[in-house]
Amino acid sequence: TPAELIRNFCIIAHIDHGKSTLADRMLQITGVVEQRAMRAQYLDRMDIERERGITIKSQAVRMPWEVGGAGYALNMIDTPGHVDFTYEVSRSLAACEGTLLLVDAAQGIEAQTLANLYLALENDMTIIPVLNKIDLPAAQPEKYAEELANLIGCEPSDCLRVSGKTGQGVEDVLDKIVAEVPAPVGDPNAPARAMIFDSVYDTYRGVVTYVRVVDGQLSPREKIVMMSTRATHELLEIGVSSPEPEPSKGLGVGEVGYLITGVKDVRQSKVGDTVTNAAKPAEVALEGYREAKPMVFSGIFPIDGSDYPILRDALDKLKLNDAALVYEPENSAALGFGYRCGFLGLLHLEIIRERLEREFDLDLIATAPSVIYEVTLDDGKEVEVTNPSEYPVGKIAEVREPMVRTTVLTPSEFVGPVMELCQQRRGTMLAMDYLSEDRVELRYMIPMAEIVFDFFDILKSKTRGYASLDYDVDGEQAADLVKVDILLQGEQVDAFSAIVHRDKAYSYGVMMAGKLRELIPRQQFEVPIQAAIGARIIARETIRAIRKDVLSKCYGGDISRKRKLLEKQKEGKKRMKMVGRVEVPQEAFIAALSSD
Ligand code: GDP
Ligand code: MG
Repeated sequence: TPAELIRNFCIIAHIDHGKSTLADRMLQITGVVEQRAMRAQYLDRMDIERERGITIKSQAVRMPWEVGGAGYALNMIDTPGHVDFTYEVSRSLAACEGTLLLVDAAQGIEAQTLANLYLALENDMTIIPVLNKIDLPAAQPEKYAEELANLIGCEPSDCLRVSGKTGQGVEDVLDKIVAEVPAPVGDPNAPARAMIFDSVYDTYRGVVTYVRVVDGQLSPREKIVMMSTRATHELLEIGVSSPEPEPSKGLGVGEVGYLITGVKDVRQSKVGDTVTNAAKPAEVALEGYREAKPMVFSGIFPIDGSDYPILRDALDKLKLNDAALVYEPENSAALGFGYRCGFLGLLHLEIIRERLEREFDLDLIATAPSVIYEVTLDDGKEVEVTNPSEYPVGKIAEVREPMVRTTVLTPSEFVGPVMELCQQRRGTMLAMDYLSEDRVELRYMIPMAEIVFDFFDILKSKTRGYASLDYDVDGEQAADLVKVDILLQGEQVDAFSAIVHRDKAYSYGVMMAGKLRELIPRQQFEVPIQAAIGARIIARETIRAIRKDVLSKCYGGDISRKRKLLEKQKEGKKRMKMVGRVEVPQEAFIAALSSD
């Protein structure tokens, strides 16, 4: 397809505003998916995506659309809506000239709408405002068209009104894409330069690499070079997704499609890298993306220690498709052998954990999520700590924690409770703006550690579900942080150590000691539970002794009953972990690590 007839666009929206549903309608209306093959959220392929209704991996689809007798090729690149995956959004944006800004006409603008809009504006994209779900009785298109128009500087009448559900107005959206999104510009005679915006491992085909060609031409059978590593591969297949893969004779300027080279590891086909021809290589690579960096760390352990090799293989498999996932072996005295894993955020953690349990049939236990702390020691040495149990003891000159720039959108009646929550979480207010009479945008700088755990849940419950949240990592700040250890009979339990602000150390200690007293059964001796900062005890509970002699029940009784009881007791012990002399049931660890 000549570049003048190509339009590359994506859809940005807050989660649940109907992006996947609108994408489905477009596939149907343009005829690329047959009526009977259609199922809801066609592009959300992973089971978990479908169940949780979120889109994780972006996908590119080509759709034909005719306007005024000319046949256009519209390339739609789906983007994930969740804050954890912002880096995937920026990747998709870089591959397009235009974007639909989709807003639920019953909800109005939300935090992720804004965050993604700012990204689109930074990328100099054409923005087409679209109000969705106008079929809903609660829809207020007039009101929100006003809000949208104020935000992006257009007329309220410029906002399209559609229903992804009924299909109403969707053809107008396709027409408007053709009319307003600029055709891609590039030099067809220059050496090829194509941007890798996604790369996915497929069991049958190996790594499938999604690219957008900027200059030149890529053809099947030719040799290509990855510009960052200089690695050469043969193009075994090249084509477009429509949405099933269709091999083609090549990709030219502005086209979006896939490449298959037979490589087996997504790291050999790095997102953000530039592909060029080996015979006539380009000199300068395209500007890449910033790399996705893990921000949240957690220890993941199999409940049954013999599952450890399965866990290792499972992580290796998931890594094939997820460059942002990192892990290394970890050995915990309390939980045994497992892996210390790094994630983009809490949702990423939950998704990986769920996939491990579901796709690999593992029972797992995860330690409380931690962020990355930068520690300067008294002798000037710098260390990074992602695991509280590795926090250096004493001799600390300064600790810095990651900060996030947080945007909360809330109905104005909840401004008080939201500000209170942000302050409790050590936040500093940056700005407060009224988007309209009854909707407020609050911006705070908050330590990431205060956000990753339960901030979103509490925010939702304080605002009856109406507030929305977005955040972006923004530097580090020194803070008065301490490590709180939990000791059972004087023995430290590594899985429960936590790095917390000094003001919150006492309440953390009391809470954990209290929880464990409830959860650990009485032993034959008294067991003190202590919370400590270094050598200083800040909280204490005691589990009283019990004389638990099951054999006394069959005093003088027959020997086989006695043996049975002994065996039963042994079996129970397998699920016990020893901390010093104290027997702790695995369930106690699991319950203590769960958030409520
Ligand atoms: P996404 O998270 O932005 O991809 O949103 P989805 O497409 O998954 O839609 C979220 C929910 O809104 C689903 O329950 C959809 O059925 C519903 N929905 C999407 N579009 C419409 C619409 O135009 N009208 C109505 N009534 N519901 C819609
Ligand atoms: Mg979706």
